[in-house]
Amino acid sequence: MHEKLIPIRQIITARNPGESEFHQAVDEVFESLGPVVARHPEVLDSAIVERICEPERQIIFRVPWVDDQGEVHINRGFRVEFNSALGPYKGGLRFHPSVYLGIVKFLGFEQIFKNALTGMPIGGGKGGSDFDPSGRSDAEIMRFCQSFMTELYRHIGEYTDVPAGDIGVGGREIGYLFGQYKRITNRYESGVLTGKGLSWGGSLVRTEATGYGAVMFAEEMLKTQGKTFEGRDVIVSGSGNVAIYAIERAQSLGAKALTASDSGGYVVDKDGIDLDLLKQIKEVERGRMSDYAERRGSSATYVAGGSVWDVPGSVALPCATQNELNGRQAKTLLENGVVAVAEGANMPCTTDAVHLFQESDVLFAPGKAANAGGVATSALEMQQNASRDSWSFEHTQDRLQEIMRGIHETCAETADEYGMPGNYVAGANISGFIKVARAMVAQGII
Ligand code: NDP
Repeated sequence: MHEKLIPIRQIITARNPGESEFHQAVDEVFESLGPVVARHPEVLDSAIVERICEPERQIIFRVPWVDDQGEVHINRGFRVEFNSALGPYKGGLRFHPSVYLGIVKFLGFEQIFKNALTGMPIGGGKGGSDFDPSGRSDAEIMRFCQSFMTELYRHIGEYTDVPAGDIGVGGREIGYLFGQYKRITNRYESGVLTGKGLSWGGSLVRTEATGYGAVMFAEEMLKTQGKTFEGRDVIVSGSGNVAIYAIERAQSLGAKALTASDSGGYVVDKDGIDLDLLKQIKEVERGRMSDYAERRGSSATYVAGGSVWDVPGSVALPCATQNELNGRQAKTLLENGVVAVAEGANMPCTTDAVHLFQESDVLFAPGKAANAGGVATSALEMQQNASRDSWSFEHTQDRLQEIMRGIHETCAETADEYGMPGNYVAGANISGFIKVARAMVAQGII
C-alpha cells in the first residue's frame, strides 16, 4: 500500500471499529491505488480518498413485524447512501441474519466503483436487514417488507436512491416493497426500485443479468488467451439468482456446470446441472440442494458441508457470498488446473485467495467488474421506466453484452496503462476510482 494511504487507512479502522468486511473492501481498493497516487498526487488533495470512504448518509432503523403465530419480532434495517457523485444512490437490499453495518458498508463501498465501471449515471449505496427469510411464510415476508418500507420510503426516490434485490431479496420481496411504497406515497413511481415484475415496470433480462454478465466477462478474459467455454467443466457455488443464470449461460456456451451449493452443502452432477430441476427446486419450491440430489438420480451426489472448490474444473464461478473461497481452497483449484475465476458474488474470494490467483497466471475477475451486469441492467430498467418503454429480450441482452465487453476493455486497458497488464483488480479499482474522484472534484467539497 502506498505510504500516503497508510495513515488514511488507519483512520478508517479507528472510525469504523469491528467492521472487518468493510476494512477488507477498502484494503482491496487502496492496494490498487499506489500507481494513481504516484502519477496523480493531486488525488490526495481536498481529502478525496477520505471522502470516498465515508458514506454520505447512513440510516439504521427498527423493523417491527408480527409472525403467523402473533408473536412480535424486531429486526434492524439499514440503508447506506455511500456516494452520489455519478447519480442517485443505487444498490441492492440484502435480507440475511449475517447483515450488520459492516456488511452493508462493504457492499455499498464496492458498489460505488462497480456502478462507475458500468458507464451508467448511478451512484453507490446498499441496504438490508438482519431478518432471516428462510422458513418464513409468504404472509410473514410480506409483513416484514411492508414494515421495512414504512421507514425506508422517506429516504428513497427515483432521483435520490433506487434500491434493488440481493441475497434474500428477489422478485417476491421487490413486489411487496413496491406495493407498500406506492401505498404510502400515493405515487406510481416505477423508477424507485428495480428488479420489478415484467407486467409492472420490470425489465427483461434483469433476472438473468448478473449471472449472464459474469460469464460474459469470463468469456472476454478467456478470449485474450484464445480460449472459450466450450467443453469446459465449470465449478459454481451458490444456487440463487446469480448462480442459476451463470450456470445457464455457461451451459449455453457448451460448458458443463458440474456443481451448485447452498449453505447446507453442495451437489456434484457429473452429467451437468439439470437447470429445469434446479429452477423448480430453488425458484418455485424454495427447496434445498439436498432435494436436487434426491430427485436427480444417479448422476448427482450431495456433499453435506464440505468445500465445492475441491471439485476439479477449469473455470470457477463463486456466486454465493463474501469470503466463501479462501487461500487453501484457491490452492486446491490451482492444483486442479483452474484457468479462470470470475466472482459472481461480491468479494467471495478472501485476500489470500486473490493473491494466489494473481501470483499464478490464472485469469481473475473481481466482483465489482464481473457481476456489474446486474446493476447495469437495473439502470436499463430505469431508462425504460423513464421513457415508459419496454425493450425486447434480444435488445436488452445485446445492451448487457455491450456493457460487459466495455467493462472488460476498460479494466484491461487501465491495467495496461498503469503497468499491470492482466491485473483486472487494479484495472477495475483504478478506473472506477478516477471516474468518481473527478466528478467529486468538479462538484466541490460536499
Ligand atoms: P440469493 O439469495 O438468490 O442466493 C444466494 C445463494 O448463496 C443461495 O443459494 C444461498 O444458500 C447461498 N449461500 C449463502 N451463503 C452461503 C454460504 N455461506 N455457503 C454456501 N452457499 C451460501 O442471492 P443472489 O444470487 O442474488 O446473490 C449472490 C451473491 O451475488 C451475493 O454476494 C450478492 O451480493 C451478489 N450479487 C447479486 C446480484 C443480483 O443481481 N442478485 C448483483 C451483484 C452481485 P442458502 O439459501 O442456504 O442461504
